[in-house]
Amino acid sequence: TQEFSVSNQNPIHGKMGRVPVGIGRRRMRIVVTGGAGFVGSHLVDKLIGRGDEVIVIDNFFTGRKENVVHLFGNPRFELIRHDVVEPILLEVDQIYHLACPASPTNVMGTLNMLGLAKRVGARFLLTSTSEVYGDPLQHPQKETYWGNVNPIGERSCYDEGKRTAETLTMDYHRGDGVEVRIARIFNTYGPRMCLDDGRVVSNFVAQAIRKQPMTVYGDGKQTRSFQYVSDLVDGLVALMEGEHIGPFNLGNPGEFTMLELAEVVKDTIDPSATIEYKPNTADDPHMRKPDISKAKELLNWEPKIPLREGLPLMVNDFRNRILNEDEGKGA
Ligand code: NAD
Ligand code: UDP
Ligand code: UDP
Repeated sequence: TQEFSVSNQNPIHGKMGRVPVGIGRRRMRIVVTGGAGFVGSHLVDKLIGRGDEVIVIDNFFTGRKENVVHLFGNPRFELIRHDVVEPILLEVDQIYHLACPASPTNVMGTLNMLGLAKRVGARFLLTSTSEVYGDPLQHPQKETYWGNVNPIGERSCYDEGKRTAETLTMDYHRGDGVEVRIARIFNTYGPRMCLDDGRVVSNFVAQAIRKQPMTVYGDGKQTRSFQYVSDLVDGLVALMEGEHIGPFNLGNPGEFTMLELAEVVKDTIDPSATIEYKPNTADDPHMRKPDISKAKELLNWEPKIPLREGLPLMVNDFRNRILNEDEGKGA
């Protein structure tokens, strides 16, 4: 019997799609680009866990094999070292497109994955970002807000790259009938997050563990809303399986200043942790908080894990990796 759906037919989605494999739903073959990264690897765990077949495409630019090594023996898991800037031929039902460090990849990689989706009739999900709102003049941000982005600024490569990726996604939908979904992801944290990519949560947590001062940029009064990774993964799957294109904000509306975040890290990891002020980066958004009413209503989704519960869940993973690094250096 045919275990996988035939790729040129539309796979079973919607109501049927939510039934677990084994009681009525066919196993799907799903591509996750960037699946060796932070969010991608958690998403892959969820999809493998529910019985689907997953192909990860990753060039290990920021991702790590360690994030998916526990799946290597699994016959439903496949890892391809490939740069999505180059075309690729596969037969799949769904594409979660997460691969992305900077603008050129967003555009070229997104184009290739949309071309793939068009050829095989797969459903395509773009992981866009809250950065499309730039330094927002509306607070909290609704999906209807068009944003305030400096097109020539230091951050614009990422912001405009994602905005272009959204444009391409909608063009393939309107022009070629590709089934698409767009998620606008707000700041997300959790185990397997990159240790050294400069995000505020990973910086503060690593600094507190290493007994270094936490580096607060600017006056520390700027705000962000931090989402735990399992909440995001649930939202991405609900979006992919649901009937709505989006864009949908996926984030936790709990809003914190960077100084408040430092307090939470201090309470969680080390009461004697200190802070050190550093100059802020250019065009840093002053505040950011998602309005998630649309996702609540149409996807029946909302985050469950507040910052004070989520932060402790990443500490062990960070401790272990920092310890390994130190041992590697012979410390
Ligand atoms: P990550 O860096 O951990 O994951 C990205 C993965 O893509 C990595 O494994 C990397 O090796 C891979 N990759 C990069 N360029 C590639 C290429 N050209 N070809 C193949 N693979 C490539 O980042 P993440 O935090 O897991 O983010 C995943 C997605 O979610 C990204 O699209 C990101 O823009 C989006 N996002 C994340 C956040 C967040 O807070 N983590 C917020 C907004 C949006
Ligand atoms: N593409 C791909 N895999 C596929 C189909 C297309 O990587 O299975 C790439 C293709 O090489 C092209 C991009 O996706 O660079 C856009 O494809 P599309 O067919 O939309 O555009 P065209 O090739 O007609 O310009
Ligand atoms: N930030 C900080 N200390 C750090 C890293 C970042 O105070 O060590 C600040 C940064 O200036 C920004 C906020 O934290 O105001 C969030 O930065 P991050 O890069 O994590 O996310 P993004 O700016 O993309 O929302």
